[in-house]
Amino acid sequence: MPGAPGIIGVGHPELREALATAAAKAGATVVRGVGRSTVDPGPAPSVTYELDGAHHTLRARLVVVADGKNSATRTALGIPIVVTTPRVMLTGLLVDDGGAWDRAETTLDVDGRNQYVVVPRGADLIQLYIARHADDPERFNGPERVARFLAAYRSLALPCPDALAEATPAGPCATFPMTDAWTDNPLRPGIALLGDAAGWSNPVTAQGLSITLRDTRVLAEALLDTPTWTPQTLRGYAEERGERMARLRFATALTDLLSAFGLPDRAAKRRRMTRLLRQQPELGAALGAVHAGPWTPPAEAFSPDILTTLALA
Ligand SMILES: Cc1cc2nc3c(=O)[nH]c(=O)nc-3n(C[C@H](O)[C@H](O)[C@H](O)COP(=O)(O)OP(=O)(O)OC[C@H]3O[C@@H](n4cnc5c(N)ncnc54)[C@H](O)[C@@H]3O)c2cc1C
Repeated sequence: MPGAPGIIGVGHPELREALATAAAKAGATVVRGVGRSTVDPGPAPSVTYELDGAHHTLRARLVVVADGKNSATRTALGIPIVVTTPRVMLTGLLVDDGGAWDRAETTLDVDGRNQYVVVPRGADLIQLYIARHADDPERFNGPERVARFLAAYRSLALPCPDALAEATPAGPCATFPMTDAWTDNPLRPGIALLGDAAGWSNPVTAQGLSITLRDTRVLAEALLDTPTWTPQTLRGYAEERGERMARLRFATALTDLLSAFGLPDRAAKRRRMTRLLRQQPELGAALGAVHAGPWTPPAEAFSPDILTTLALA
């Protein structure tokens, strides 16, 4: 994408440590090692948490809940979440490839039943993923999963298949369903959900961290704009998020559709869709949301008939 700087490959533990350090430097109190916690909503909300066997209660003007996709707080507050049915299962493994892979390359590629995602992670490591159709009978599970995962990297679609297949694992091998999810309203009296707790984007387009950081900025600006913090005064955050996530849902559906992943006539289907995109490039404009942000393409780029037009190509 013109003007987009490309992608950043950073591990979750390193990033969250950097963010916690930055928060502490900016004056926040970071408490680690918390056990069970509960949130009491309402006009004077509070959080009670367990630390070293003792209970602590904090009162706040607003409790911002960011406890991830399986948010226990969201469940306890009874905030409903809609989760799509996974089209794809994604398995990931961090490896040391001895520097064989070109560090300037990030790849999303399909060969047969496998969709490969390769993301360099600094000089030493690369993050490997394999996506398979949700109906694929062979999952990467059981004690042999790392060996089977690496063996599946011996694909001629990739530039250095042997080096990848013989790479040394540097982390766990885990499988995740690729879904989108959303809450109709991430606000309740005294409570604001953000990040995955408020609903997530299908990781196929790797938007999760950008979404969480943008949520934080939009919510922070809304808090600075108004002296009273209620679901009504903060509704701009909920509205912006709702539309932003809908646009990203469209972009992930379009990404899956254009990969034609799992279709028996994949090559022919992709040729027909690519020809149509050459004739009408505006049909693919929503893909710009992935690298330049969901507000960059015009609203008409997210019209549902685009998916049907391409699907029938
Ligand atoms: C397979 C897969 C691949 C992905 N790939 C990418 C990618 O390439 N790029 C990208 O941008 N995103 C990616 N994501 C998504 C990304 O990881 C998430 O969107 C992002 O981490 C969400 O941030 P968060 O802060 O909302 O939640 P999390 O990162 O899940 O953080 C929640 C934190 O809250 C803590 N917590 C939980 N309960 C409590 C409690 N009661 N009190 C205090 N703390 C608590 C947890 O320990 C955790 O540290 C991927 C996700 C998956 C599943």
